[in-house]
Amino acid sequence: MTRSEPARTTTRRIRIRRIRVAGLLVVIAAIAAALGDQLPASSSPTASSSSTAASRSEHRRAPGDAERSVPGGATVSERRGALGEADGAVPDGTTVYDDEIPGVANLDPALLGALRQAATDAADDGVEFVVDSGWRSPEYQEQLLQEAVSEYGSEEEAARWVATPDTSAHVSGHAVDIGPSGAAAWLSEHGAEYGLCQIYSNEPWHYELRPEAIDHGCPPMYADPTHDPRMRQ
Ligand SMILES: [Zn+2]
Repeated sequence: MTRSEPARTTTRRIRIRRIRVAGLLVVIAAIAAALGDQLPASSSPTASSSSTAASRSEHRRAPGDAERSVPGGATVSERRGALGEADGAVPDGTTVYDDEIPGVANLDPALLGALRQAATDAADDGVEFVVDSGWRSPEYQEQLLQEAVSEYGSEEEAARWVATPDTSAHVSGHAVDIGPSGAAAWLSEHGAEYGLCQIYSNEPWHYELRPEAIDHGCPPMYADPTHDPRMRQ
């Protein structure tokens, strides 16, 4: 699967296993959060057990970019339960065919069409695409940004991982985060044939549509979103 980077395969497999365990904890945390009354951060006593569980979910690859590949395993997801599916949160195992989920349904139709074509062909190779995040409401994006700012300690550092509601391609429906790592690896090899391109070197899961890539290949990546002119407003 990871044809170009064999050395990293083992690490990725281990991460996938951790992600699955974390997924269970997220469910537990969500139930606890529902029972414990929309907890504002981790201040109330009833919130402590659920936010502990949520903090263990830091490596789950949804819904915010900021949660992944964070050196030292930083946690920015403790308040994830505050906004739901209508804002773009996606349940575990969401696929590109899940029309009833707003995070998928509100994607740009051209992007979604390319993703479905790619996913169909990837399935022939035994690779399944999971949508870890797609369209997000401005409110949801703002929440992810605030979480990242408090986690990283500065807006500058947070900007390397999470865009503002005004600049995020997720909010406009033009970006999708695809997992697991095997699916991202498949896209990194074949995505250009569908116009699907990785945009940022630090986000191997984040794909956008670049139709010209079908003929000319994907454009060079930005090191991270701070190098993307679209992010400067
Ligand atoms: Zn993304």
